[in-house]
Amino acid sequence: MIEAQPRQRKIIHVDMDAFYASVAQLDDPSLVGKAIAVGGSGRRGVISAASYEARKFGVRSAMAGSLAIKLCPHLIFVKTDFERYKEISDRVRKIFFEYTDLVEPLSLDEAYLDVTENKKGNPSASLIALEIRQKIKERTGLNASAGISINKFIAKVASDINKPNGQKTVPPEEVIPFLEVLDIKKFYGVGKVMKEKMYRHGIYTGLDLKGKSIEFLSENFGKSGAYYYNIVRGIHNSEVKPSRTRKSLAAERTFSENIASEIFMLEKLAPISEEVERRLKKSKVAGKTVTLKIKYSDFTLQTRSKTLPLYISDKNLIMETVTELLFQEGMKNSVRLLGISMSNLNNEKKQTLKVSEEKKYEVQLKLDF
Ligand SMILES: [Mg+2]
Repeated sequence: MIEAQPRQRKIIHVDMDAFYASVAQLDDPSLVGKAIAVGGSGRRGVISAASYEARKFGVRSAMAGSLAIKLCPHLIFVKTDFERYKEISDRVRKIFFEYTDLVEPLSLDEAYLDVTENKKGNPSASLIALEIRQKIKERTGLNASAGISINKFIAKVASDINKPNGQKTVPPEEVIPFLEVLDIKKFYGVGKVMKEKMYRHGIYTGLDLKGKSIEFLSENFGKSGAYYYNIVRGIHNSEVKPSRTRKSLAAERTFSENIASEIFMLEKLAPISEEVERRLKKSKVAGKTVTLKIKYSDFTLQTRSKTLPLYISDKNLIMETVTELLFQEGMKNSVRLLGISMSNLNNEKKQTLKVSEEKKYEVQLKLDF
């Protein structure tokens, strides 16, 4: 018998494997098979990515370079190259759009795709994911992994399971058992602190989580209580949101020595404003609000903004405003980071892609997933 059910979606989460590190190995074959870290070689450097060879030694992204080298003395440091990442990321996104316009990028190397209805008329999200990964390999030389399921949350968790260069499908009928045995620290949103908290309440798996009432979860986890209550029951209705409009554009620099003089700061801000100009022009936008971000050596943060009557993208105009902001009172000595961001961008009306209103119910037949 055919019965009406809530519409079943087919979501893929695609995630490039060790993206920055893999790009470095692609561009310099002598790095293949070596333990490498991207970024992080300076005195205050923090690593942005590590190759799988480096991960074996415990090297992780967001780790201080100084610690990484202790864990892995033969670690090779490579510079970040955002131009190159962006270029490859654009190529990968083009592949996604061959299948669906419902693409929600999470970063340069990750995105959600809703392929419930897709341009190829392919009913199997698993086969689409396989094709996409093959195309990524052909057109970029890089490996990607994928997770396939009924919502973004499960797709995201699943993409990690057969990484690297693998994929995992959690079809509708396996959703509940999959979540029940899932380790609580694998739940998206559960970081170190949340994990400890869950453990304290005796929650180690999805099943443990399921045993808690919504009242208990709300009481102990506040707003996220209801999120966890639903998620473990396979309920997560967040849609794949395409073409997020960029709200701001920024560039910043951390200095290896703290700076005290404003004149010296201006010198440092000039190339930052150039970078902002370059990014604005590349995105073909201009902004009205200029924000200067100042981080002091004691890690306190100050932001100073000014909104102009006109949209600007020229570095000299940006510097004019930044100079004005810099010479306001209240500067402390010893600055470790300066940044400039532009917001109030003139791209608000450019968003043309609209998600068609989802039908709440439709007749559902058993389909390949
Ligand atoms: Mg990745």
